[in-house]
Amino acid sequence: MTRAAAGLGMTSRRSHARMIERLREQGVRDEAVLAALAAVPRHLFVEEALASRAYEDTALPLGSGQTISQPFVVARMLEILREGRAGLGKTLEVGAGSGYQAAVLAQLTRDVYAVERIASLLTLAKLNLRAIRQFRVRLIHADGQLGVSEAAPFDTIVVAAAAQSVPPALLQQLALDGRMLLPLGSGDQRLTLIERRAEGYVETRLDDVRFVPLLSGFE
Ligand code: SAH
Repeated sequence: MTRAAAGLGMTSRRSHARMIERLREQGVRDEAVLAALAAVPRHLFVEEALASRAYEDTALPLGSGQTISQPFVVARMLEILREGRAGLGKTLEVGAGSGYQAAVLAQLTRDVYAVERIASLLTLAKLNLRAIRQFRVRLIHADGQLGVSEAAPFDTIVVAAAAQSVPPALLQQLALDGRMLLPLGSGDQRLTLIERRAEGYVETRLDDVRFVPLLSGFE
């Protein structure tokens, strides 16, 4: 390793630790979520030119006009999904992008399926996950609005792009007592939690958020 690379390593370890402290200050309480974010080197998931900004609390471009989500938003979503439950169980992520959130999910649960509609991003996610030796995430090139029927039902579904309305296939593929979290809306978006109970689906509207749009088809 060159001295410059070793130096970046130390700098990023420090800024990574600061990112976790900041998440605590912002109110993230779930230690398992904080540990999962601490275990995944975010600087390996952003473009090299942006690596020095990887631990700022901001969304960053990852190519093809898409963005890697803000660490606080990832932490907040995982905290909501875990709250009061033993674990996330079988989990579907729609919108794998760089693979960052999938890597964090894989720290919290064994079974992760991550779907991405843009082939070049799926390749990027594959390379990124390989670089951190995370081989358990199953990456699928498809329109995630349709879910992954072969692997359904899912205990947890997390959507990383904003939908206009809840995709019906995802509702169908949510297990009983399962939870789905997705940004809903076109202009103003609200993080929306959907719980499937014996008596039906219960919807709770949460934080205002800003995500790229959920699109149909794949390329
Ligand atoms: N979770 C990602 C960030 C994703 S940004 C990360 O941690 O890096 C949202 C992603 O959703 C983009 O990559 C976009 O291509 C993808 N996306 C949008 N609509 C989709 C759909 N219908 N199916 C699958 N992926 C979709």
